[in-house]
Amino acid sequence: MAQQSKSYNPGDAPSGTLEQPVAILRGVGPRIAERLTRLGVTTVSDLLCLLPVRYEDRTELRRLGSLRPGEKVLAQGRIELAEVIFRGRRALLCRIADGTGAITLRFFSFSRAQHDNLVRGATLRCFGEVRAGPTGLEMVHPEYRVVGPDTPPPSKVLTPVYPSTEGLHQQRLRSLMVQALSMLERAPLTDYLADRLPADVPQLDEALKFLHGPPQGTELEPLSIGRHPHQLRIALEELVAQRLSLLRINLGRQRERATALSDDGKLVAKFRRQLPFTLTGAQERVLTAILKDLRHDTPMHRLLQGDVGSGKTVIAAAAAVVSAANGLQTAVMAPTELLAEQHYATFRAWLEPLNISVACLTGSVLGSARLELLRRIAAGDAQVVVGTHALFQQEVRFSHLALIIVDEQQRFGVDQRLELKLKGKDGTHSPHQLIMTATPIPRTLAMTAYADLDHSVIDELPDGRQPTRTVVMPESKRPQLVQRVRAHCQRGEQVYWVCPLIEESEALDSQAAEQLEQQLQSALPELEIALLHGRMKSAAKDQIMRRFKVGELDLLVATTVIEVGVDVPNATLMVIENSERMGLAQLHQLRGRVGRGAAASSCVLLYKSPLSELARERLRIMRRTTDGFKIAQKDLELRGPGEVLGTRQTGVMQLKIADLVRDAHLLPEVIRLSDELVERYPQRVEPLIDRWLSGQAHYAKV
Ligand code: ADP
Ligand code: MG
Repeated sequence: MAQQSKSYNPGDAPSGTLEQPVAILRGVGPRIAERLTRLGVTTVSDLLCLLPVRYEDRTELRRLGSLRPGEKVLAQGRIELAEVIFRGRRALLCRIADGTGAITLRFFSFSRAQHDNLVRGATLRCFGEVRAGPTGLEMVHPEYRVVGPDTPPPSKVLTPVYPSTEGLHQQRLRSLMVQALSMLERAPLTDYLADRLPADVPQLDEALKFLHGPPQGTELEPLSIGRHPHQLRIALEELVAQRLSLLRINLGRQRERATALSDDGKLVAKFRRQLPFTLTGAQERVLTAILKDLRHDTPMHRLLQGDVGSGKTVIAAAAAVVSAANGLQTAVMAPTELLAEQHYATFRAWLEPLNISVACLTGSVLGSARLELLRRIAAGDAQVVVGTHALFQQEVRFSHLALIIVDEQQRFGVDQRLELKLKGKDGTHSPHQLIMTATPIPRTLAMTAYADLDHSVIDELPDGRQPTRTVVMPESKRPQLVQRVRAHCQRGEQVYWVCPLIEESEALDSQAAEQLEQQLQSALPELEIALLHGRMKSAAKDQIMRRFKVGELDLLVATTVIEVGVDVPNATLMVIENSERMGLAQLHQLRGRVGRGAAASSCVLLYKSPLSELARERLRIMRRTTDGFKIAQKDLELRGPGEVLGTRQTGVMQLKIADLVRDAHLLPEVIRLSDELVERYPQRVEPLIDRWLSGQAHYAKV
């Protein structure tokens, strides 16, 4: 049936025809060409790679008597009546019947001509969604045509629905696709994978032809979930192209220059001697890898994964020590002010004894203090600069930024990392980058989505940690819980109480937090209680955090601002309100605020009944495991990778067809194929990237 795809042959010249601009197709003028560009389509081959987002079955004329609400169907009948009514809203109603049943077509906007066209007795064919109306089944604004002698029979293939953009209609896209497919018939696309894949995997052309018009009778179900073998073939190729582009970025970086950072003065050894603990085996291993990276004159790009509480901060600080030992600057970027301030305090405590100056730049450093700080950064007097997004601002200039550390990278966009990197560029040199995340990512996913980075994992918690015990509790048990909190604080340990989540409004959020604090204060008058929320001034937040850290406060009532990074080892009990409304990753991050010291910790997940199935499942997982890796795996299944990987997926991985979760089973094959292409068939790399990623070059610079 399908013509054989042309297998790749190293002697091939680029195959010409399909690489021509879409303008050669009938009906494509400058305006349409511009609109196609918005869909990433500039050549005929790009157009062929624009695949339907779904399909409609218009192959069969359904009997009107067989229709059910909710179905999208093609149907036909004789017009019994067409009238304009004014019940509340003006509407044109047209009733058609076919002997088995009848349906009403309802239009709210229509022209005189349209009305005139609907003559009693004429046959009308329509396509739309059936719904239950006031007088039986109806369709609102269906597509329709009056059937005449020239009306073609229903389509023999499923009707593709393409991603659309303003001013470019499905009808137009379909007609362009017909032309492109007939060109494909004459000049097949080069198949760069066919000879590397098992024979039963569909070839590229075959898959494309199928997907642009699946034959009548093709089941919609596998197609709608992206499980059809032809879709998998394309998804595989797209993922290979994506990974190749990331591998290419990595290769490109090896041509960049960075300042080689060595630690001749043994400052790191001194740093380590003054720590109150010894590093775990995993920390040692990771630190060794980082110190080795830094000694090279190519920039480091390392992703450091480590579950909450595994001790990433100390590794970051050690890297900053090396940079300072070479007289150069380090920027440490944190996603929240609270975390930036905490890092500032930690880094100062560790680095100032070594005569390394540390500064903190957030949005709330203002006026002359800000100017002075900017001056110190520009002069190189501030050797380590901890900060929030404020670090990206144009006014921030470094004297010589040699190392960038990004904490909780899942909170940042690719663009933001790029901006910071540019600050460290001085024409010839690029900064080293250490990117830290508490989101454990399955290995094959990391090797695909982060193929441009080296990876390290801290897969061990510091000695003596006990897993946090988690209990799930209905709100009705609140009084007992309050007693438990009292006993807990009497033992000298501290408590976090996380407020209900009110997503829509930070104002409401803060209000709910204030109410909760008052309630707890009156129930527990003997305790020192304070409140922390996002709308407080940074100085106030800072002060409360400091009081909590040194143990002046027993109980901290907080919104989810404490979700990332906050570190108070003596806090050993956490209560989370409305836990049923939170996602797994968020619950895991919050729970990670306890269990950070030697004492046993626990976490109480309060919930409001009734629990949804999904919420019940999440809470069950939380109770069963504290392993961030398992939780992330579940989260990936329940939520999808976009959120798990942060903006990364919408940044670098702009996937058109593939889906990292749905197609996770393809990833080992994606890794095998792309590695093989890089090593044995490097000529195929560029054309494959071009085919699937044209227009995404911007991100290649991060
Ligand atoms: P995270 O990886 O979540 O950022 P942190 O770096 O905040 O974790 O470390 C969590 C806590 O563990 C901190 O109080 C830190 O000082 C402490 N810590 C880090 N490494 C060790 C270690 N090797 N032994 C004991 N405690 C450690
Ligand atoms: Mg941290």
